[in-house]
Amino acid sequence: MPGFECFDKEEKMQLEEVMDTGILMRYNFDSLRKNHWKANELETAIAEKVQVQHVHLTSSGTTALITALKALGVGAEDEVILPPFTFVASYEAVLFCGAIPVFADIDDSLTLCPKSVEHKITSKTKVIMPVHMCGGMADMESIIAIARKYHLYILEDACQSTGATYRKKYLGTIGHMGCFSFDFVKTITCGEGGAVLTNDENLYQYSHAFSDHGHDHIGLDRGLENHPCVGLNFRISELHAAIGLAQWKKLGHILEKQRKLKANLKEILSNNSNIQFRKIHDEKGDNASFLTFNLPDENLARSTSQLIKESNIPCAYWYDNNWHYYKGWKHFDDLKKDKSLYEEQRSKLPHFNDLDLTKSDQIMSCTLSIPLSLKWDESITTEIAQKILAILNR
Ligand SMILES: *Cc1c(COP(=O)(O)O)cnc(C)c1O
Repeated sequence: MPGFECFDKEEKMQLEEVMDTGILMRYNFDSLRKNHWKANELETAIAEKVQVQHVHLTSSGTTALITALKALGVGAEDEVILPPFTFVASYEAVLFCGAIPVFADIDDSLTLCPKSVEHKITSKTKVIMPVHMCGGMADMESIIAIARKYHLYILEDACQSTGATYRKKYLGTIGHMGCFSFDFVKTITCGEGGAVLTNDENLYQYSHAFSDHGHDHIGLDRGLENHPCVGLNFRISELHAAIGLAQWKKLGHILEKQRKLKANLKEILSNNSNIQFRKIHDEKGDNASFLTFNLPDENLARSTSQLIKESNIPCAYWYDNNWHYYKGWKHFDDLKKDKSLYEEQRSKLPHFNDLDLTKSDQIMSCTLSIPLSLKWDESITTEIAQKILAILNR
């Protein structure tokens, strides 16, 4: 996820244009901003590229998710189904809307298992939130079929998969709403930033108003704008959007490079029969920020990841990662005593020790990921793949 690895003069030039005006706010100040509207420009560039009607930038992927959930009307007593392998923000976003996050298992694509999703649906379920982890995609065809059958919304957490496609449609544009993150380690970075995507005019109108204190953004005088809804400040600044504009132009180059490096790694590693590559529902659409594979058992996966790291090759063993896997989220149990939650929400939250996600555990305990660097070339990936092969053949 290396947008920051390719900073050059483009980002600096974009920043300078904003600094020269002194207007860091994305709205208003028309006479002072020398016609620079970086956030608007980035929204248009994203919408054109991913072919979606509406894009609204926010201050982070987390605030994009909260904005989208609010736009979909998610609140007290509603349930949102999501996977246990994600970033902790997906879970937090549901909680902070007053709703109840419900885990469904993942399958060998490391994204929501459609069967498990169907199993978790109740009369309170409102949204299915597939999370397109590590540049790959959820089984959207099956998830769409389930959502139609039970009249549910789909919110795609595409924070890790900007630019990836599923059957030629960009991830984040397939469900009712989708979210990107542009934080410091994502494929495209603004420093901090996020985006809400939708083809629905009403959901878009709510989203831009909600993320700016409910302002309707109609009229020249900010103080005279109306409040169609209650909101908060989840705005992106012009500085962050400016960096994003320079980065966005590099998306094609980043994906092309990642895909090439990944294909090289994969070709060499396929010589080891212990390696089972992650299932990618649409290989052509893979954002390819990681090469992810499973080994036959937990002990082998754990010891191999340790040895890979010791040979200075980056390697993620997600099963032990406190940010990305539910096993490291026991701090959420504190909320069962938290007065900012209403009683039913508190009582319906799971005890993290009691969760039964055996299938996910079986898969994730054997999963390793190599994050690809844009600084690498094929001679480096060849060397890395050979080192990993040697470790596996030890
Ligand atoms: C990064 C990330 C987020 C949150 O994005 P921030 O911009 O860091 O707030 C949400 N979901 C997933 C899957 C992510 O990887």
